[in-house]
Amino acid sequence: MNTGWDQEVDLLVVGSGGGGMTTALVAKHKGLDVLVIEKTEFFGGSTARSGGGLWIPNNYLLERDGVDDSFEMARQYMKHTVGDRVLQKLQDAYLTHSPRMITWLRDNTCVQFQRTPGYADYYPERPGGVAASRSLEPIPFNGKKLGGELAYLRKPMAEAPGGLAFTASDYQKIGMLTSTWTGKKTAINAALLWVRNLLTGVRCLTMGQALSARLRYAMLQANIPLWLNTAFQELIVEDERVVGIVAQKEGRSIRILARKGVILADGGFPHNLEMRKKYLPAPTSTQWTVAASGNTGDAIQAGILLGAATDLMDDAWWGPSSRSPNEEPFFHVGERGYPGGLMVNGAGRRFVNESAPYIDVVHSMYSQHSEETPHIPAYFIFDQRYRNKYIFGLFFPILPIPRRYFENGYICRAATIASLADQIGIDQGMLASTVERFNQFARNGKDLDFRRGESAYDNYYGDPTIQPNPNLAALQKPPFYAVKMWPGDLGTKGGLVTDEWARVLRTDGTSIEGLYAVGNSMSSVMGNSYPGAGATIGPAMTFGYLAAHHVAGD
Ligand SMILES: Cc1cc2nc3c(=O)[nH]c(=O)nc-3n(C[C@H](O)[C@H](O)[C@H](O)COP(=O)(O)OP(=O)(O)OC[C@H]3O[C@@H](n4cnc5c(N)ncnc54)[C@H](O)[C@@H]3O)c2cc1C
Repeated sequence: MNTGWDQEVDLLVVGSGGGGMTTALVAKHKGLDVLVIEKTEFFGGSTARSGGGLWIPNNYLLERDGVDDSFEMARQYMKHTVGDRVLQKLQDAYLTHSPRMITWLRDNTCVQFQRTPGYADYYPERPGGVAASRSLEPIPFNGKKLGGELAYLRKPMAEAPGGLAFTASDYQKIGMLTSTWTGKKTAINAALLWVRNLLTGVRCLTMGQALSARLRYAMLQANIPLWLNTAFQELIVEDERVVGIVAQKEGRSIRILARKGVILADGGFPHNLEMRKKYLPAPTSTQWTVAASGNTGDAIQAGILLGAATDLMDDAWWGPSSRSPNEEPFFHVGERGYPGGLMVNGAGRRFVNESAPYIDVVHSMYSQHSEETPHIPAYFIFDQRYRNKYIFGLFFPILPIPRRYFENGYICRAATIASLADQIGIDQGMLASTVERFNQFARNGKDLDFRRGESAYDNYYGDPTIQPNPNLAALQKPPFYAVKMWPGDLGTKGGLVTDEWARVLRTDGTSIEGLYAVGNSMSSVMGNSYPGAGATIGPAMTFGYLAAHHVAGD
């Protein structure tokens, strides 16, 4: 070993999320000596907390099922969503290599996927859009296979009680438990599976848990080391080439030589308040993000110090989120689509299609927010019919809402819309007229203000038994409820600018030799958009796959 180096490898990967672990698997397969380091005591990052969805147009499962898709269709769709905000060659790299990436995983590892039928692209009516779903999720995985390593898997955002496990597809159907036979059947099947798993000793993992566990299991099978509690701190540069890093391991500073390259995959900066204040729109807070706590922008900062260019730093994977004091925030997806709920600003007016893709709702909150008409927080309002029928956050229909949520102000309840308005400090008359207008739209099945329920994406989280519009029902059954909605996020979008091989670029467009960025350390290939479910993990894993090929000299 060279003097001065504590460890020598071909490829050093910073971060054990979807981006980092995929890179490591491909690089190892290509014959490289790889080491993954992870700052926290848990592996998986936001990937482990996530829904585990991957948006992969034109993939082999779509072909198998006869869903009409092609590179050209997907390219057209990205043109109408991402647009020219991101270089075409990066978009093309994604569309070419994301299907190859999952085929490679299928053929070489235990990382296997299934479709999430019906989970429409987020703008399926735009040219090239697909309503039948381009999104995939991992096949459930028996966590017991990980042995002792399972204890180090980062926990999900919300755990179902008693070890119950749902896939993302199940979750959407169970959301309609009180309305549809499919919902009831799915819930019964999940319960039966739970009993079978209890009896057979299977620890069933789904969604992001299954994805991270599968990636980790594949790493164990390929003998790829992962060092937990090891924080990347600095890049080491010789002759303008990144040759290694300084890391903090168990209280000690160590130097790791990376002969062929360093991959930055540390998940962006959602938990760095200083960076949030510097780059993201105001107001901002680390209290509203559901991303993994270790994601504090260390890699992006190191890249900037080296002269790397950044982009999209003012954007994030936004979504309206609620937060009860002293608890983790909750990122609301389906709840906004279920009929019988609406969102208003501080003036008591609707301002957005509540069923719209989560990023768009928060883009609207920020773009319309002002001192005179605050949109942060906004309020999600629903009635007792909604409450009796649908899941809201951690509240299940019929089960009472624990008293502490009323006492700590998380949720307000009132017998009339007027008294609800009083409780949340909104003009009574304005809220009443907003609800009245909304109820009129619901009766006619047409939202003349925001066209809610007109997109197949809106309908995915609608109630098919409510007609003519599955996303619209009148709020008329007291009591009425209100919950504050904050501009939450799944992570940040901005990061180091790269080329199509994930090589980090300087502001003059030249690449920094030996340095790659993937996942949320990289400026997103999706620009300011969110084309479909899985549009963040899909790219994280795809550009990891590409970076590994480049490091290996392909
Ligand atoms: C609740 C939730 C649901 C989501 N659902 C989806 C979904 O279904 N589909 C989708 O596409 N996206 C989803 N997302 C977003 C998605 O999970 C993330 O954007 C994506 O996983 C980021 O992957 P990554 O590899 O870049 O980072 P991560 O998976 O966050 O991994 C980064 C890792 O790097 C580590 N790290 C940080 N700093 C250092 C350092 N200095 N040294 C060493 N290690 C470091 C972190 O601790 C972390 O473990 C969801 C996110 C959340 C939170």
